[in-house]
Amino acid sequence: MRATRATRALAQLYAQQPDAALSEAQVEAGLAAAGAPVNRVTVYRMLDRFAAAGVLHRQVDAARVTRFALAPQGAARPRFECDDCHRHFQLPQGCARVHSALGPVLEALATAGHENLAVEIAVRGRCVGCAHPSAGASA
Ligand SMILES: [Zn+2]
Repeated sequence: MRATRATRALAQLYAQQPDAALSEAQVEAGLAAAGAPVNRVTVYRMLDRFAAAGVLHRQVDAARVTRFALAPQGAARPRFECDDCHRHFQLPQGCARVHSALGPVLEALATAGHENLAVEIAVRGRCVGCAHPSAGASA
């Protein structure tokens, strides 16, 4: 499947509401509202493709309705490595924003047909202990 107007509209639908868990009917309605109407079979095919790519996560709600939400990108936790002492620092802050910013990128890759996408974010530099050794930063 090519990067059709419908798949782009689907990616945009989730980019606009990154926390949404949408049913097929909601996606179908959203695509129609975005000017990219497609039939139910095509909607399911696109959702399946996005799910196979790891972009969307399939879930079934209490009413047994299958819903699709943006998959949590667990591997996308940013980390920082010091070039001098090679210590690793976890960067717990800003993850949510990084994830929502990555959504459109992952969706574009999924739209192009790539699968099993994983994201790793590495920041390099000099840690405060190496950059400012006299500042009293404990190792
Ligand atoms: Zn360092």
